[in-house]
Amino acid sequence: MTTPSLLILPGDGIGPEVMAEVRRVIDWFGDKRGLQFDVSEDLVGGAAYDVHGTPLHDDTMAKAQEVDAVLLGAVGGPKYDVLDFSVKPERGLLRLRKEMDLFANLRPAQCFDALADFSSLKKDVVAGLDIMIVRELTSGIYFGEPRGIFTEGNERVGINTQRYTESEIDRVARNAFELAMKRNKKLCSMEKANVMESGILWREVVTKVGEDYPEVELSHMYADAGAMQLCRWPKQFDVIVTDNLFGDLLSDAAAMLTGSLGMLPSASLGAPMANGRPKAMYEPVHGSAPDIAGQGKANPIACILSFAMALRYSFDLGDEAARLEAAINAVLEKGVRTADLLGEEGVTPVSTSGMGDAILAALDESL
Ligand code: NAD
Repeated sequence: MTTPSLLILPGDGIGPEVMAEVRRVIDWFGDKRGLQFDVSEDLVGGAAYDVHGTPLHDDTMAKAQEVDAVLLGAVGGPKYDVLDFSVKPERGLLRLRKEMDLFANLRPAQCFDALADFSSLKKDVVAGLDIMIVRELTSGIYFGEPRGIFTEGNERVGINTQRYTESEIDRVARNAFELAMKRNKKLCSMEKANVMESGILWREVVTKVGEDYPEVELSHMYADAGAMQLCRWPKQFDVIVTDNLFGDLLSDAAAMLTGSLGMLPSASLGAPMANGRPKAMYEPVHGSAPDIAGQGKANPIACILSFAMALRYSFDLGDEAARLEAAINAVLEKGVRTADLLGEEGVTPVSTSGMGDAILAALDESL
């Protein structure tokens, strides 16, 4: 079997700082578990603009299309705010998502027991929570035509169009069923089939795709009821699949059930490549955090958990992903905290690399 390839794009601000800790984790898996990755590194965002005058060089884009997975840190920063829209750091990220056609956005909401007190919900509602929201990312109301602000008679009207083709629903649904097969074989599809035709089609297509996955228990829920259920008892869910708009709202709400931005990973997946692996980009949800960049204060866990997602969803190494997640849990249980996770009095925060040290030590203990 060929060595799996990984393109690392640290980006700007705290991106390189948190990615340095991921590199140590990748090296650990190579040294201690014999898992070799063919790792290359390149520039994205402001860092790429500084060197190439563009936030994503064509060569980098070509590399991203070839590798088994891309791991991105974060892009952006005040230095680049003055740039023309066409070369802003975020354009590099958007180009990657668009040209790789990453139509399924995976946002886990996972609550480490040691951080359950950070949630705005009661501890027993969130402790041990581990759900995954799959949001359709490249179609729906954010892209549908007609759109715009028009004048009708003597007033203006704002229009956006929710539009989904059967094939767009089919591919994201398949992705969600595949994920459900790798997890607990339980999938809930959310739309508003009671008031939207696109929701009726969504429900029909998801149900049809479900015939190919008889082992997965499929349920349907109206998205507004789903929002209530997520707050009332989120542990009833395992994988949720939904459209772009509802997914935007539900994944943000679900993610915040679990606490700090420094803890949230994500994945964006596309169609399977020739080797059967999906096109994939993994990245923390947070941005480049210019307010703490260069100070060793960033929490590297979101980025390390993004690598855990790559192990599970690109490389079929679910056991190793679980090992890494357990190591992070063990570190948090011991009370090791970066500054963003401080709640208890008298706890001294560790630095970004201090958190990396603790995670590597916990990985050693897992052997
Ligand atoms: P942000 O996520 O960078 O920061 C928000 C707050 O959370 C800040 O106080 C920051 O210090 C804190 N924070 C974020 N990540 C953290 C971590 N790992 N550890 C500890 N604290 C952390 O969002 P913002 O301030 O709105 O944006 C800053 C820049 O990042 C902007 O240029 C924005 O465009 C960009 N951005 C990029 C991405 C991305 O690359 N995917 C996402 C969001 C924002």
